[in-house]
Amino acid sequence: MYKVFDVVIVGTGFSAISAAINLKQLKLDEYEHPNFIMLERRSFPGGTWLQNRYPGAAVDVQSVLYSLEDEPYAWTEMFAKQPELAAYTNDLLNKHKLHKHIRLQHNLEKAVWLEDENYWLLEVTHNGEKLSFRSRIVINATGPLSTPSLPFFENMEAYKGKVFHSNDWPKDLELEGKKIAIIGSGASAIQIIPAIIDKVKRMDVFQRTPHWVMPRKDRVLSRIQINAFKNKYIYKSIKSIIYAILELRVIGFKYIPSVLKLLAEMPAKKHLKSQVSDLGFREKLTPSYKIGCKRILLSNTYYPALQKVNCVLHDIEDSVAAFYENGIVSKTKNKIEVDIVVLATGYRAADSMVSSEVIGRNNIVLNEQWKEYPRAYLGTSMPNFPNYFVVTGPNTGIGHTSAIFVIESQMRYIKQALNKLLNDKCKSIEPTVKAESKYSEMIHSEMDKTVWAHGGCKSWYQNENGKVIAMFPGFSFTYRLMCKKWRDDDHVFKY
Ligand SMILES: Cc1cc2nc3c(=O)[nH]c(=O)nc-3n(C[C@H](O)[C@H](O)[C@H](O)COP(=O)(O)OP(=O)(O)OC[C@H]3O[C@@H](n4cnc5c(N)ncnc54)[C@H](O)[C@@H]3O)c2cc1C
Repeated sequence: MYKVFDVVIVGTGFSAISAAINLKQLKLDEYEHPNFIMLERRSFPGGTWLQNRYPGAAVDVQSVLYSLEDEPYAWTEMFAKQPELAAYTNDLLNKHKLHKHIRLQHNLEKAVWLEDENYWLLEVTHNGEKLSFRSRIVINATGPLSTPSLPFFENMEAYKGKVFHSNDWPKDLELEGKKIAIIGSGASAIQIIPAIIDKVKRMDVFQRTPHWVMPRKDRVLSRIQINAFKNKYIYKSIKSIIYAILELRVIGFKYIPSVLKLLAEMPAKKHLKSQVSDLGFREKLTPSYKIGCKRILLSNTYYPALQKVNCVLHDIEDSVAAFYENGIVSKTKNKIEVDIVVLATGYRAADSMVSSEVIGRNNIVLNEQWKEYPRAYLGTSMPNFPNYFVVTGPNTGIGHTSAIFVIESQMRYIKQALNKLLNDKCKSIEPTVKAESKYSEMIHSEMDKTVWAHGGCKSWYQNENGKVIAMFPGFSFTYRLMCKKWRDDDHVFKY
């Protein structure tokens, strides 16, 4: 016997929490709230900040902006660290009584649209057992950066030390006196390196490409400031001001490259020069692509950490060639003995968007429909996949502001669809092929104007063919306005 739900949310991170809060606020005719569950493949709920417990983990947009609408929080730091972000997530789960909806260790493997019944059949594994659910609606909130990208190196299996992805940092890992290798120099690595450099005996950092790093205007907030955050009007005003300032960055990313040069590249170069006096070392750390092409990183402590006596920076010429029993063999045939290897190698962004097999109308497989590149109307819904919504879907990423702003914009669209499906007795909704094509064409023609497409880098924003599939090419308020305006003509309804 199948369990039947109005809505199944896949995931329990901020996207799923936002979807669940919206569902709880939705009033239905016959009964108060839709009947929904939240599937979580891990043994704990909460997503990003419950999983990423590596030393130094912190958000890189101002905490006030990185919070849900109507859910202010008395942040103690300008850029909150992981424990506070995890506490905020847990507060939301508790406040909105979401635990009773959550099914832990439930990994969604496959979703199949049952055309005659207008239901999704969901195949889930739970502790090795196969379970099936049915749901009228699926909200896929599996996270843009949830599935780690694990590199393969020759002879890795022979290595006897510890090796793990930054996303899987072991609890109580002993670092004192250890020799450690960090593979990668991106957003996670630049937080980990300064946080542990003084504990370890020796650190070898393997950098494929240097990143642009800007100073981080970080500070611990005063008691008065923290108390001010408790007033929701003050909170909203501060949030709006920071939002408006950050939004100006789009002018540089897209419209006037010289703005990016002036306001980002020059300060980043100055930052590097002021922290690294050795010319050769500075060259090693200077990117060859335009600033903004990859995510701009913020840190005051990364460059100083790299220059500590116990740290060695290996560039692409001396990258990892293979492993041996006790460590790493570099390209220059150096044998480096290490006790611990951290794979700070990022995420499989394209695979994380939808982490299960999805089969829609007429047996159409989502990955086949996305063979050329992932595409969706408003980055959220797809023709042939009725009543299926992807949060943080194709081209919804944002490099200049908080991901939560985008998530909550998508909710404005999804909420309207939910109302039609749950209150207006509509059996199914999906976007028309024409509407999705028009939207996707617009996205990629706008993308052509951005630094992400033409900045001379290879980044996780792009697929293997170099097409930018992760980012929204414009102001985030433009995206929100598009999500707010429901267009009947853009959709196919079945009653
Ligand atoms: C280290 C790190 C730092 C970041 N820093 C920032 C930042 O500074 N600013 C910013 O705006 N964004 C940042 N992000 C992006 C971050 O992903 C978003 O801000 C936000 O947390 C996304 O929330 P989410 O709910 O969509 O995804 P997640 O929090 O990743 O949640 C997805 C959940 O879905 C679950 N799941 C996935 N597949 C399945 C399945 N098949 N079945 C069941 N459950 C499944 C996962 O286990 C996970 O719990 C960062 C991400 C990472 C990893």
